[in-house]
Amino acid sequence: MAENLNVLESTQLIIEEALTKLGYSQAMVELLKEPMRVLTVRIPVRMDNDSVKIFTGYRAQHNDAVGPTKGGVRFHPDVHEDEVKALSIWMSLKCGIVDLPYGGGKGGIICDPRQMSFRELERLSRGYVRAISQIVGPSKDIPAPDVMTNSQIMAWMMDEYSRIREFDSPGFITGKPLVLGGSHGRETATAKGVTIMIDQALKKKNIPLKDARVVIQGFGNAGSYLAKFMHDAGAKVIGISDVYAALYRPEGLDIDYLLDRRDSFGTVTKLFNNTITNKELLEQECDILVPAAIENQITLENADRIKAPIVVEAANGPTTLEATKVLTDRGILLVPDVLASAGGVVVSYFEWVQNNQGYYWTEAEVHARLQVMMEKGFENVYNVHVTRNVDMRLAAYMVGVRKMAEAARFRGWVN
Ligand code: GLU
Repeated sequence: MAENLNVLESTQLIIEEALTKLGYSQAMVELLKEPMRVLTVRIPVRMDNDSVKIFTGYRAQHNDAVGPTKGGVRFHPDVHEDEVKALSIWMSLKCGIVDLPYGGGKGGIICDPRQMSFRELERLSRGYVRAISQIVGPSKDIPAPDVMTNSQIMAWMMDEYSRIREFDSPGFITGKPLVLGGSHGRETATAKGVTIMIDQALKKKNIPLKDARVVIQGFGNAGSYLAKFMHDAGAKVIGISDVYAALYRPEGLDIDYLLDRRDSFGTVTKLFNNTITNKELLEQECDILVPAAIENQITLENADRIKAPIVVEAANGPTTLEATKVLTDRGILLVPDVLASAGGVVVSYFEWVQNNQGYYWTEAEVHARLQVMMEKGFENVYNVHVTRNVDMRLAAYMVGVRKMAEAARFRGWVN
């Protein structure tokens, strides 16, 4: 079987299958298989040595039938237009699954923030907002953090947007620092959402959380907080990794030590000699495997060697379409990315609601509401998986795309 590593093409295939199974027309497939708008921008940035470097950035907006588009901005050397487009479609699906009043959007800049100074990053962030300011806004398209962007970058972007518009606009972006209208629980939200999904999956497989062995690939925002939550809940985190290497200790890792020593990009394995590769980590014996890094990690090459009975995707797109079939056929319960990692955008939605109301919630309120929305999302997807006899990814796409298709139909865009 040939494997397609182009995430946009694979996404389009599943969107088509989901809409067809739901009984929608080919015109609906045509409408929703591509973003309605993609803007490519060139951003000149004055570097610290006084030279000027020109960066390329993107903002993709999948569809606004449901409401404004929403989704993060990633800073990464491998950012690619097709990837940003796929990521915007995945954001639509996440919002649909947990029933948020948004369509999906995504942005990206081709850059390596690990090689840039604080001030260079500030100038790049502000330049990006100036370049996309026409098409974004609190009721148009609302950015957020993603791979290698954080609350500081959100703060610069919010400040730049507020200057352009000449009024304070906290609702323009989410994932801000608390003092600038951020929400309690936003930073840990993706990981919290993943822990709720792990609980649900363990229940279906009748495995207790206590002493369950967890392997997490990636030690960024999602992976590192998840390791902490799993450890605190009594599970045994036996493997973690960063971009360079992986640590695997069957007796359990000292998570507090690792969290203390990681840098802001989640790098920590450099402190150790006895490491294994990221590839090897995925194939270790464990009860729960959580890919929390980047795309195309579980492929036809390794899918038949994955030993975990439960795979929960905290990253976007870590498993290929073809590998999904292998895992499903092997009886592995896969909680797909568009469901498992929706906690981030749920709390982003809470942040935006709080900004719009000017009234702020407690952390306990945020968590309680997140719990309800994630559990409902899981149940809806699991039910479609069982009743329609489709794999968990297709089930998630069917649940996720339905609201958008209905909204487009009611608006009279497509029959
Ligand atoms: N970047 C996150 C994601 O991929 C969060 C997006 C948001 O909060 O809008 O889901």
